[in-house]
Parts: sequence; structure tokens; C-alpha cells
Amino acid sequence: MSRSLLVVDDEMDICEFVQDVAEDMAFLVTTTTTTYDFDAVYVDGLDAIILDLSMPDQDGIEVIRYLAEAGCRAALVLMSGLDSGVLATAERLARERGLTVIGALTKPIEVATLEELLDQVPSADGKTVQTLTVPTEPSNSIPAEELAIAIREGQIVPWFQPRIRLEDMSFVGVEALARWQHPDRGLIPPDKFIQLAENNYLIDALTDTMVNQSLAAVAGWQQMGLTVDVSINYAAPSLADLNLPDDLSRRVSSHGLTANRVTVEITESSVLTELQNSLDVLTRLRMKGFQLSIDDFGTGFSSMQQLQNIPFTELKIDQSFVKRALGDADAKAIVETTVELGRRLDMSVIAEGVEDLETLELLHRCDCEQIQGYFIAKPMPGDQIPAWADDWTSVAETLKS
Ligand code: C2E
Ligand code: CA
Ligand code: CA
Repeated sequence: MSRSLLVVDDEMDICEFVQDVAEDMAFLVTTTTTTYDFDAVYVDGLDAIILDLSMPDQDGIEVIRYLAEAGCRAALVLMSGLDSGVLATAERLARERGLTVIGALTKPIEVATLEELLDQVPSADGKTVQTLTVPTEPSNSIPAEELAIAIREGQIVPWFQPRIRLEDMSFVGVEALARWQHPDRGLIPPDKFIQLAENNYLIDALTDTMVNQSLAAVAGWQQMGLTVDVSINYAAPSLADLNLPDDLSRRVSSHGLTANRVTVEITESSVLTELQNSLDVLTRLRMKGFQLSIDDFGTGFSSMQQLQNIPFTELKIDQSFVKRALGDADAKAIVETTVELGRRLDMSVIAEGVEDLETLELLHRCDCEQIQGYFIAKPMPGDQIPAWADDWTSVAETLKS
């Protein structure tokens, strides 16, 4: 049986060139020069897709998202006239979304390279020419309906982990972290349900309830005389919602709080995933006074260009570096360099995953502004925060001396 191939490129010449080569290798080829009505040309069961990343009407990143959402199983070849960095990033993005990428082509395309890649496309009858590493789907033992009900019924609650300013050891803020208080299964950690929420269009509802409960908690502590800021995690899909800045502003003021006390934490990869709208949304959030933090800094698609484009106010050094900083010279260098980078870019820097006093001291020495980690406190329910804050005052005194 012939293998089927879809070629997506706005240049007709390229489409025809690829088509010729592929047909000589007995592929059934369809081509399109536009992704405007991509669903009209995309069919289930394609064996391979060659995708140009720079299309005028829609960029390749959006097509990648479309394919991932459609559950596409085709072998994907990414193509670009841009630098290889763009290809590498897009390739990684596609893999992270569960697509099978078998290679990349830089323009001008060489026949031999193209043939080699097409040779690797598994045939539909199962006679794969070469086995590819297909990312396995996360096993979701929890059905999405159950999560939907949990969100509606208030089983998703924020726990809070304190943030400390190293200069004076003061308690300055909390990060809200989602917990599922399941009636039968007990407390379920977020890595068991955040992805599930994202995959099933439940993440906005989840973020909504997290935001509302977190703001209510901060306002409640405030009434007890405890003033702390709050950081809230946002997932990639939320950054595509152009109403987010207005909506969040409204909520914040309805709790009697101000935007500058709320930090929106996002990962670098989520900015890239929703590149089109996220720049718009993030800029407007910043203009409204919210703080913007890059979470897991150092693990994602770090690019200086992105740092410059987006008005981030905080870098959050990923815990993998922080935890290794004492024993591993490279990790230590990354931590120190990130602190320096933050200072130069006029951003505050927080290190997370601080588990011992030695790491705290190291961060203090390199002038890292804030820390968060088990050494200070594990995440806890909101009603425990005021008592913890009381205890902390005396701990902080001993640490300072
Ligand atoms: P994250 O945003 O990077 O949060 C930090 C995680 O590291 C938290 O895990 C926290 O409990 C843990 N942690 C903090 N300090 C230490 C330490 O010293 N040692 C160790 N071993 N771990 C530490 P958690 O609460 O399980 O959250 C995991 C991830 O789930 C979060 O990573 C975040 O990506 C996601 N998440 C949590 N809540 C939400 C939410 O409301 N919305 C979204 N979109 N994602 C969330
Ligand atoms: Ca976070
Ligand atoms: Ca993090």
C-alpha cells in the first residue's frame, strides 16, 4: 500500500519539488499552499506531513497545535528557511505536544536529505522502515469528567508556599499551588491533574477557582494584619484568552487588593505555545500593574530575545539547578549567572527548591533576592499561614544572626 503525504508550503515551487521526489518513491501526495482552511486538507490517517513553519496566514506553530489537538499520528517533517534554532524549537514543541517528528529540513532542500527522511516514514501496513520514538501519552487513570465535577464542587483548593526575602528574612509572599481534595482518594498532587485539565479544556475553570480562592485568602490574611503578595500559576492555554487582563483586574479589585501584589507565573514554553496572543496578554497584564514571573527558568526555551520582548518582572530559577548548586559546579554557575542576569535586566530573582541552610547561604552570598523551598516551609492550607507567619518571625531572627 502506498504511503500518504501532505505537503504544506506557501511556495508552490517547493510543493511541486517535494511532490516529484515523493511520487518517485511511490507516495500518494497532496499539497497545499495555505493553512487558512487547514481542516479542509487535513485527513486522519496520513502517514507523513511536511510542514513549512513560516506561512503567511498562520504560522507553523499554530498548525502544530492544530495537529496535536486533532490527535495526529503522522510522521512530521518540519521545514524552514529561517535559522536552525527556530527549527529546533518548533521540533521540541511538537514533540512535547505528543507529535512524532522524524526530522527537519532547511531550505534550500537537498534531494538526498528529503529522500532520506521520506524513507523513514512508517508505512500504514505496519512495515515500519525504522522505529521511531513516539512519546507515550500520560496515563490518565482519572477520568476528565471526575475532574470537571471536582472543580465545580470546590474540591480543587490552593495550598500556599511561603516566599522569603533574603535581605531581612521577611515573609513577603506565597505561591498558590493546586491540590485536589478527593473524597475517596485523598489529597492528589497537581502533576496528576493539571495536564488532564489542559487536555480537556478544564484549565480555565481550574485557574478561575484557584484565582478566586487565592485572592480571598490573601484578603482574609490582610484583615488579620498579615500583608503578603500572591503568585498564581497560569497554563499556556490561558495566555490565549484576550480577556484575561481585564478579567483578572476586576477580580483583584473586587477583593480589595491591588494588581502589584499579584504575580502571574508562567513557563517559557507556555509563552511560545501561545505566541500569537500571549505577547498581547502579558503586555496588558503588565500595563495593569501585575507582576510577571518566568517559572522554571533555565529549563525551557530560554532565549534572550524572548526576555526582551516580554515585560517580565521576575525570574524564577528552576529547582533542578538550585538543588544541585552545592555539589555541581555547572548548576552553581547557572544559579549565579541567572541572578546576575536578573539584576542587569532589572528583574527580581527567586530561587525555588531551597532545601537546606547551605543552599540558602549560597544564594544569600550571590545576592539572590528571594527564596522558596522546603527549608523555609512546604506548601500548606491557607488557614495555617497566619500561625506559620507568627512562628517564622522568631525563626527569621535566629537565621539573621
Ligand atoms: P511549580 O510551579 O514549579 O511549583 C513548585 C513545585 O515545587 C511545587 O510542587 C512545590 O510544592 C515544589 N517545591 C517547592 N519547594 C520545594 C523543595 O524545596 N523541594 C522539593 N522537592 N519540591 C519543592 P507542586 O505543588 O506539586 O506543583 C507541581 C507543579 O504543578 C507546579 O510546579 C506547577 O507547574 C503545577 N501547578 C500547581 N498548581 C497549579 C495551578 O494552580 N495552575 C497550573 N497551571 N499549574 C499548577
Ligand atoms: Ca510556579
Ligand atoms: Ca517552578
